[in-house]
Amino acid sequence: MYWEQEIETLHRRSLEALQLKRLQQTVRLAHKNIPFYQKKFTELGTTPRDIVSLKDLQKLPFTSREDLRANYPFGMLAVPPEEVVRLHTSSGTTGKPKAIFFSKKDINQAAELIARCLIMTGTTKGDVLQNMMTYGLFTGALVMHYGAEKVGVLVIPAGPGNTQRQIALMQDFKSTTLHVTPSYALYLASVMHNEGIHPKRALSLRRAYLGSEPYSEETRNKIERFFGIDVYNSYGLSEMNGPGVAFECLEKNGMHLWEDSFILEIIDPETGVSVSDGEKGELVLTTLRREAMPILRYRTRDIVTIIPGRCRCGRTHRRISRIIGRSDDMIIIRGVNIFPQQIERILMGIKAVAQNYQIVLEAYDQMTVRVEISKDLFDGRVEHLVNLKNEITEKLRSEILVRPKVELLEPGTLPVSEGKSTRVIDKRTL
Ligand code: AMP
Ligand code: ZN
Repeated sequence: MYWEQEIETLHRRSLEALQLKRLQQTVRLAHKNIPFYQKKFTELGTTPRDIVSLKDLQKLPFTSREDLRANYPFGMLAVPPEEVVRLHTSSGTTGKPKAIFFSKKDINQAAELIARCLIMTGTTKGDVLQNMMTYGLFTGALVMHYGAEKVGVLVIPAGPGNTQRQIALMQDFKSTTLHVTPSYALYLASVMHNEGIHPKRALSLRRAYLGSEPYSEETRNKIERFFGIDVYNSYGLSEMNGPGVAFECLEKNGMHLWEDSFILEIIDPETGVSVSDGEKGELVLTTLRREAMPILRYRTRDIVTIIPGRCRCGRTHRRISRIIGRSDDMIIIRGVNIFPQQIERILMGIKAVAQNYQIVLEAYDQMTVRVEISKDLFDGRVEHLVNLKNEITEKLRSEILVRPKVELLEPGTLPVSEGKSTRVIDKRTL
């Protein structure tokens, strides 16, 4: 099932021709109306007329999140302020927020992309989507909300948290689809498990869209098994509308990135040069259809690879892998580069591990992994705990090549976040 079959299955050559046409429009718009880009173009000696093929993308400047912050609040706006109908912000972890503006057309286009994603994964009119993302300045909930309404889905704007109410809503309104962060989905599963609620019997769930923070295939499997549903990976970022940038299809093997709306590049984060096909690197995105706030070559900091080959679903838009890490999330311990996702993948593959964990960096070469373990294991037998601790330590060591200190905790010890979770606590001082 397709929402816009022609565009979703467009022949690569036509898709690239469309990209070029839209890139040229975007570059003209950015150059004409955004002083930041005018200045960058002058510095690089580039003019919009130099963009005659997709290869000329290289001639365009990168945009970083620091650039967006430096131009806060209105500096990146390409239309008169009265054309803007919505503001979102994205704060990240430090500093000033980034302001993201949408025109009426932008709101509609973002919703269209979500509609493609929902139809692609079998959600349609008659489905009930319980949206557990945070409503507000964050794009996660609202962009999904508008797209789902476009499809004709009943949307429950539940927001995150208040777990008892979430369960009641799911039961009373027979929610079929969840939109949720992986960490909250795991928490929900643990609460239901403790209360003896069997989702397969008590609920009508069929699928969930998980995104907004990194998670592993093991976490997906864990959630799929517990709820008896299909979990689809959903990727987006506020600077590029929010959710609906890249989404898995029924094949669940990589996320189709909507290339009629964004140009993707994968670069070496150190040198800025494109990596060879199939290699991992930082995802760089250029908007092709945004009018209020076009962005050229945005450094997402997300590390991915492109999945080679055509997808069996028939869509021609290329697929990106799960987010392997963020270039700024990388931990360096004793000279070894480690992404928190590697640790998560190992932990979630161990049956006795419950849903929550934390990585604490204390000294420059010391890492502690604090793990909540399943209640059933607190049976008072010390040797059970010792064996488990050894197993976890050894599995982590063979993945990350550094032996961490492992602490086992009772379920419920670590804080649960409603939005994006904080997994790494860095206490190191320089
Ligand atoms: P925000 O700007 O608050 O919308 O956050 C966007 C960031 O969230 C992205 O750049 C990613 O780092 C992260 N993110 C979003 N979706 C996913 C996903 N499916 N997997 C991993 N990370 C994600
Ligand atoms: Zn596909």
